[in-house]
Amino acid sequence: MNTLILATRNAGKLVELKTILSEAELPYDLVGADAYPHLPDVQETGTTFAANALLKAHALARATGLPAIADDSGISVDVLSGAPGIFSARWAGRHGDDEANWRLLLAQLQDIADPHRTARYVCAAALALPDGTERVTFGELPGVLRTAPEGTGGFGYDPVFQPLGETVTSAQLDAGRKNAISHRGTAFRGLVPHIRQLAG
Ligand code: IMP
Repeated sequence: MNTLILATRNAGKLVELKTILSEAELPYDLVGADAYPHLPDVQETGTTFAANALLKAHALARATGLPAIADDSGISVDVLSGAPGIFSARWAGRHGDDEANWRLLLAQLQDIADPHRTARYVCAAALALPDGTERVTFGELPGVLRTAPEGTGGFGYDPVFQPLGETVTSAQLDAGRKNAISHRGTAFRGLVPHIRQLAG
């Protein structure tokens, strides 16, 4: 079976992506970048989700000689004109400090009334081949920002984000439900036909 490499060292995200892609029954071994410890770190210098996803996928495809997939995602808040956007992981300054990030966001929205607390998770999923061929697909999950956190599941902004059509936060959704509606799920399900067509 051919190998498809996933550009993440995050174990949680790897499980999530493997679950989403295994539903498509793709004929590939899905391997995380952590299986290749000597790969160079990629600087996310792009200014869009798509550019950053492509940077990661191309770097991995070049370094391994394998078809590679990557994603870049974040939260876009309407009243902040789309911010934090590509800065979601380090909105409060330190990369990956999830609680500091959502606390800062809630503080910034403190005076904003419920009807204007709309936001969306956004994900760009990219496929790159060693020969430079590339495809990008997108997914979104609209919702609203709560005024206080609830729930212990998920990661990132999940404790303060309530998806449209749900009565609970993303941190209270079970993994199956989250995968079914998530921005990452939509983006990667959109990438599946391209993987089938191009990845050999
Ligand atoms: P990355 O795609 O791993 O760079 O993630 C960017 C950041 O966006 C994460 O650190 C989170 O803060 C946020 N984010 C992306 N997807 C989600 C999600 O599904 N739930 C909560 N936060 C998310």
